Amino acid sequence: MEGTAVGFENDLTEKLKLNHEELQVATIAAQAGFCNKENFVDRTGHGKAIYAASVYEFESLEEYMASAHTYGRCGHPNSDDMAHAIACLESAEAGLATSSGMGAIVCTVLSLMKGGDTMIVHADTNGGTNFFFAEHVRSFGMKVEFVDVLDVVTLEATLSRCKETSSDDSRVLIFFETITNPLLRVADVAAISAVGKRFGALLLVDNTFATPLRCKPLLQGADVVVHSATKFLGGHSDMIAGAVVGSAKLVSQAKAVADCWGLSISPFEAWLCVRSIRTLEIRMERSWATAEKLAVRLRAEKHGILQVNSPPKCAVLSFEVVGGLEGVKTVIRSLGVIKFASSLGGVTTTVSHPASDSHADLHPEERDHIGIHDGLIRLSVGLEDFEDISTDLLRAIRTAAAATPASVVRIDEDPSFTS
Ligand SMILES: *Cc1c(COP(=O)(O)O)cnc(C)c1O
Repeated sequence: MEGTAVGFENDLTEKLKLNHEELQVATIAAQAGFCNKENFVDRTGHGKAIYAASVYEFESLEEYMASAHTYGRCGHPNSDDMAHAIACLESAEAGLATSSGMGAIVCTVLSLMKGGDTMIVHADTNGGTNFFFAEHVRSFGMKVEFVDVLDVVTLEATLSRCKETSSDDSRVLIFFETITNPLLRVADVAAISAVGKRFGALLLVDNTFATPLRCKPLLQGADVVVHSATKFLGGHSDMIAGAVVGSAKLVSQAKAVADCWGLSISPFEAWLCVRSIRTLEIRMERSWATAEKLAVRLRAEKHGILQVNSPPKCAVLSFEVVGGLEGVKTVIRSLGVIKFASSLGGVTTTVSHPASDSHADLHPEERDHIGIHDGLIRLSVGLEDFEDISTDLLRAIRTAAAATPASVVRIDEDPSFTS
């Protein structure tokens, strides 16, 4: 059934819908997938089957017409479970599971926008997202403006300018991440939404870094929320997945594009994602606590670090080491417990280098302008022991600092040092 989003269409999910705004995210997460009617049909509520079928067969045309699943690209019981779980976590009316976070962004944008419409995109976002807007979206004849969306004065000025230069029937879509990547600025969703609404703009929000444990953008005025479930929702660095949540109407439009363009998720990945969501809260609490303690240690480190970005309740932090690219190379070479990997959100602590991986597609001047300097390292905090991670990280930073004595800067003397 193309175009049908997974909503709350049966008794059990209806029951959850009534309660899910009162339930804590930890409860919804721990019971992910258990509440779908399908579980009770096959009595495997605590060990749901993986429906590895590309096609379903029927006794009659009537049965076929009435079935929610007919062909794997357009949905299956496992993608329904995942969509349902993430919709519940985000207090959304409906959800859609996609093949990746990029798949979620692509199908949402293409379902909402057409040639001549305008997208106002926050300047510091995930590298792939940035590339999609800058290259592909523009090639479809849509206008894309990269601005500091988090600054509502800039946003308002951009919206007024767009309104003057666009036709009356064109749409404006605002896109940003609730915690930006890799500079970790925290968006005030309600304030951005208030400005956007005054201009009739739609709000598309990527909630990957914050997770619904910290923030539910739909309750603060967002129209659609997307996730890279590859990160914290999946949490184990063993799958690629994404999700779209929002109103039933907007999500079914995104699903129609995802089904047609083949952006749907496989049964196994969806099953893995649902299983992982059940431990979301306990993983996030542990990573947040360790990240906070690490940020304190990094700030107390007087040599070798120029800047630490570490919002509260965030498992990712970023910091700039002295010595630029050479400093980064030394840090990466010197790490032992912490691994160098270009993703985040897994159970292991990893570092990445935005300037050469996630944001390598940006022009060096553009990167510098945004603040993604060559010395910037992004750290995703996993579940290892705090002292082990801390010792490993500080040893590597000190090694890098010792290798670049001429440029050693004390962080407390550096005006760019921020919290
Ligand atoms: C990784 C990431 C994406 C892209 O997700 P994939 O699952 O890799 O396609 C989008 N947004 C953010 C914030 C990300 O971190």
